[in-house]
Amino acid sequence: MSEKIQAPRGTFDVLGDDALARDRLESLARGILERAGYERIETPMFEATQLFARGVGESTDVVQKEMYTFDSGDGSESLTLRPEGTAPVCRAYMEHGMHKLPQPVKLWYLSSYFRRERPQKGRYRQFWQLGVEAIGSDDPAVDAETILLLSEILDALGARGLRLRLASLGTADSRAAYRAELTAHLRANEERLSQEVRDRIDLNPLRAFDADHPGTREVMASAPLLLDFLSDDDHEHFEAVKALLDAAGVAYEIDPTLVRGLDYYTRTVFEYTSDALGAQSGIGGGGRYDGLMEQLGGAPAPGMGWAAGVERMLLASPAPPVAAPPVDLYVAYAKPEHRQAAFRLAADARRAGHAARLELGGRSLKGQLKQADKTGARYVAILGDEGTSLKDMQSGEQKTVEPDTVMHHIRGGL
Ligand code: AMP
Repeated sequence: MSEKIQAPRGTFDVLGDDALARDRLESLARGILERAGYERIETPMFEATQLFARGVGESTDVVQKEMYTFDSGDGSESLTLRPEGTAPVCRAYMEHGMHKLPQPVKLWYLSSYFRRERPQKGRYRQFWQLGVEAIGSDDPAVDAETILLLSEILDALGARGLRLRLASLGTADSRAAYRAELTAHLRANEERLSQEVRDRIDLNPLRAFDADHPGTREVMASAPLLLDFLSDDDHEHFEAVKALLDAAGVAYEIDPTLVRGLDYYTRTVFEYTSDALGAQSGIGGGGRYDGLMEQLGGAPAPGMGWAAGVERMLLASPAPPVAAPPVDLYVAYAKPEHRQAAFRLAADARRAGHAARLELGGRSLKGQLKQADKTGARYVAILGDEGTSLKDMQSGEQKTVEPDTVMHHIRGGL
């Protein structure tokens, strides 16, 4: 026998209770997002590599080492399996002329994303994200509303041990002044930093806040903070976001060291973590990206959004009781010659909107009745030489009926 082929490392199949839990998450999220006026969008699984190189940023881990990139096949362009959803949604906004719609355009998505990361619990190479993007308004109410929506979805799921951290990165101008100060601080303490941080002082100094390295952490404890460099406008915007979250009763902590892994953020950034998760504690996060559309070659349009990991949301939430879908009618038959009539009865029942099951495994009548019991069917129809008998599994009552009247009889009881 040849060797069994397995799913690639860092990927998984969705089935059984996990599939039911995901359906539940989707319908909870859909309800909350649609009530707030968000519409579904789904973009292709792969995009031009340039979209992510320019959108997410050349200096990020995602672009530097985590993308699955391949040739289009005809040599015309380089393609990449999408590692995130914001840049593709911005591309779609431009491509469909959504700036002509009433602003902001509010969109949500739920689909899979791909990153070449070291697989571990809660971290996969193909994972699902639920995300929202609100494009076309820089009103702080957009920031607060999107954060509130994620908070409500996590509450509805029953996610445990939640913490919301919030900060503002300011606009590109205030960040440039800050970057110079931070770089000077890192240079002055260079010998105490990890090699990785040292190598990236010029490329991406903010990521030094993310380091676990003890020496680096000491240096960062006395580093200048971006929140102290905000312009008056940025400060006012951030205060308004906080006031709205307070008004909605959303609890948060200000974390001036919050750094997100993607380059496009401006002003508000936030992250939800859960103590119920292990090392990979990030459940979801996002922020404002007012410069992204221009970076992608479009007309300027401010935006705000987040993405939350579906696997991590489910890991942090208690498993809901999962009920198997009910079966209204189980159609059993005594002999092969009754099979066609049974097939037709099951089809008719389904067309009439009932959940119907039919024997497909060649079981004996006794075996079929056992199956009917297992599925918890409300009615069982048995087709035999003496006609059709119908059993009400709730009352135990059984009677012989005309084959054409089965539907009429069960409709009365259901
Ligand atoms: P990001 O786009 O990096 O801000 O990620 C948003 C959320 O997606 C994170 O908070 C995680 O919940 C989830 N996520 C990101 N990368 C992975 C991964 N490799 N495996 C599973 N979930 C992930």
